[in-house]
Amino acid sequence: MSTFDRVLIFDTTLRDGEQAPGASMNETEKLEIAYALERLGVDIIEAGFPVISQGDFNSVKTVAQHIKGAVICGLARSIKEDIDAAYEAIKDALHPRIHVFLATSKIHLQYKFKKTPEEILQMAVEAVKYAKKKMSDIEFSPEDASRSEKEFLYRILEAVIEAGATTVNIPDTVGYSTPTEYGRLIADIRNHVPNIHQAVISVHCHDDLGLGVANSLSAVQNGARQVECTVNGIGERAGNASLEEMVMAMDTRRDFIDCFTQIRLEEITKTSRLVSHLTGMMVQPNKAIVGRNAFSHESGIHQDGVIKKRITYEIIDPKRVGLTGSQIILGKLSGRHAFSERVQKLGYRLQEVELDRAFERFKKLADQKKYVFDEDIEALIQDEITEIPETWKLEYLKTTLETGRPPRATIRLRRGKEVLEATSQGDGPVDACYKAIEKITKLKATLTHYAIQSVTGGKDAQGEVTVKLQMDAKEITGRGASTDIIEASVKAYLFAVNKVCAKLWGPEPEPSPV
Ligand SMILES: [Zn+2]
Repeated sequence: MSTFDRVLIFDTTLRDGEQAPGASMNETEKLEIAYALERLGVDIIEAGFPVISQGDFNSVKTVAQHIKGAVICGLARSIKEDIDAAYEAIKDALHPRIHVFLATSKIHLQYKFKKTPEEILQMAVEAVKYAKKKMSDIEFSPEDASRSEKEFLYRILEAVIEAGATTVNIPDTVGYSTPTEYGRLIADIRNHVPNIHQAVISVHCHDDLGLGVANSLSAVQNGARQVECTVNGIGERAGNASLEEMVMAMDTRRDFIDCFTQIRLEEITKTSRLVSHLTGMMVQPNKAIVGRNAFSHESGIHQDGVIKKRITYEIIDPKRVGLTGSQIILGKLSGRHAFSERVQKLGYRLQEVELDRAFERFKKLADQKKYVFDEDIEALIQDEITEIPETWKLEYLKTTLETGRPPRATIRLRRGKEVLEATSQGDGPVDACYKAIEKITKLKATLTHYAIQSVTGGKDAQGEVTVKLQMDAKEITGRGASTDIIEASVKAYLFAVNKVCAKLWGPEPEPSPV
């Protein structure tokens, strides 16, 4: 193995990541994440599973048409219909890739397909050949590879490479493997598949035992040169190997792992925040690299140590991952020009009209809050990105809280020219508001998730509320930010309601195939 090899980063936030319950995104949100991934410098973006739904197909097509800085990949089962759909969705990409998969483990063969190994091998070869007629870049995944019979796995890999697969991916679909075992599997594949040097070995590890990143790194040390991962490690069940952890492990321990990636490290924090914001999946505070506490040193000794010499306790300089600390940047007197410059510096592309709207909101915020931080601006802009038509608009809000009496809320909403008002009691002020909104909109919803966190530090910080509403078996995410947490709660709820009115929810999540 040559030293200091490049490892390709295959990001599947938009496909596997989206399968996390409640994380589904619409087309605009997916495109925004794709732009962020392009800025981050990922090598391959798996944009979706086009055959699954029209919504998924459209999103993949849009990503393929706009993103030029990465390979755009579409997932397909080993059947013609899937491969055709994937091809149609990604054919406009500068660098398209079809990713074909087929189950190869005994459990899957016996219970899912009722097919013999020979029949499976034939299916895989035919699928790869069929895809190869459409484009040169083909990836093949034997689903549940880590639980497959090794001899059969070697045969199928040899056959698909012979048929034209340029990347072979070894998924630990159910997150069952351990680092030593998984590393050995990759080494065995390299030693037993005669034509393996003609393809890149990829790995795809789920995190059911918390070993996704460890397994992937062990595979890299044994010759894998592509890792599949998601931002913040989101995905079905316990999620996928996390991009930022894998990249920073390879960067920090380059001396030991002997590999590098071409990820722009300083984009990591921003991308993590965007994905968290658009999926409504908050990052746990102690999460490595991107968690809120990842670089904070609360204890006195540590603080002293860090100030004296950063490397005493910190193995990564937070600036390297784009964490510049909360900086006071703008205030009430900042003009549109300064605001626009800051927005650009943060890496967002806004149309003139979006910028106008964002600036309006910035002015309002600057009235309520002495200092406006980068994180405040990000929260503001990320709401502009989603472009949900405001069917219902908040005009007025009043809540009363009094010891010994039930909280009450009066809400006035505008829909076009019509203005409607309702008053309700509730278990708390937020509940009272939600009941009043329900009275006005007549949309019955169950609140399945409510979370609030502060956007920055400080007593005048904005509260950012994320809600998930269950409506007709669909889960819809809404979010809102304000210095008044009741107003933030109302905004988040209305955001979800407006998504329903505009039918702008993402596709239904399907169980993860790979
Ligand atoms: Zn997966």
